[in-house]
Amino acid sequence: MTEREPSASAADQLPRPDGEPIVRLAGVVRVHGEGPHAVPALRGVSLDVRAGELVAVMGPSGSGKSTLLNLAGGLDRPTEGSVLLEGRELRDLPPKRLAELRRRSAGYVFQDLNLIPSLTVAENVALPRELDGASTATARRAALRVLDEVGLADMGDRFPDDLSGGQRQRAAIARALVGERRLLLADEPTGALDTRAGDEIIQVLRQRADARAAVLLVTHEPRYAAWADRVVFLRDGRITDSSDAQGTDGAGGMGVVSAR
Ligand code: ADP
Ligand code: MG
Repeated sequence: MTEREPSASAADQLPRPDGEPIVRLAGVVRVHGEGPHAVPALRGVSLDVRAGELVAVMGPSGSGKSTLLNLAGGLDRPTEGSVLLEGRELRDLPPKRLAELRRRSAGYVFQDLNLIPSLTVAENVALPRELDGASTATARRAALRVLDEVGLADMGDRFPDDLSGGQRQRAAIARALVGERRLLLADEPTGALDTRAGDEIIQVLRQRADARAAVLLVTHEPRYAAWADRVVFLRDGRITDSSDAQGTDGAGGMGVVSAR
């Protein structure tokens, strides 16, 4: 099987932060359900995330954070408005092309890890590449590279159950990173972890943003949001406030101090 390896310098070819957004939401409305049971989860959200940016999304439970992430990654479709992933309007893509773009461009980390217990860590991480048509050997090489990146170089041949909670979460992040995806979506990835393990996760996300990915991170913890370039606050399906880490936007700053 022929296979185009992502080049080591792929990151160099990504747009600069002032370039095209990796993901753009424009006037996005998402209503779940219909009729009397309709729930407006997002009520007109616009957001750009560029290469090199880590954007934290905060807000109370039910404010639409997960809905926003699912839309950004093409897992869900907006009721109104548009979502562009790497410049492509997702609405215009036939389902097969959408699935392909999603697989190549976006990686997800959820609190519920979904690592497959009967596969080794390396096999779990290699799986998305294999699903994308890579040979087993190529997918394994890509998996080992990214496991090294998240500090799990020696854990590839273990099974998920043999890892600590923090290590399992890093394995899930490795699986989301494999294949040089440019958009990383992390929905409360530190939720169940102690502080030290949580810090390791955030550092991996930060490194990935610094390596020219776009990262959207849902978190409840100011401690983790402090690593972000921007913090976006959602309430009742609207962005109520947005701040860069220095508080230099017009929103009055949120007192978020960069941890870097
Ligand atoms: P958050 O992640 O901030 O807790 P969600 O995006 O999960 O918020 O949910 C936003 C709102 O949409 C909530 O009122 C939730 O109950 C509702 N909701 C989310 N997903 C669905 C769904 N599949 N069907 C119906 N309502 C949903
Ligand atoms: Mg949620």
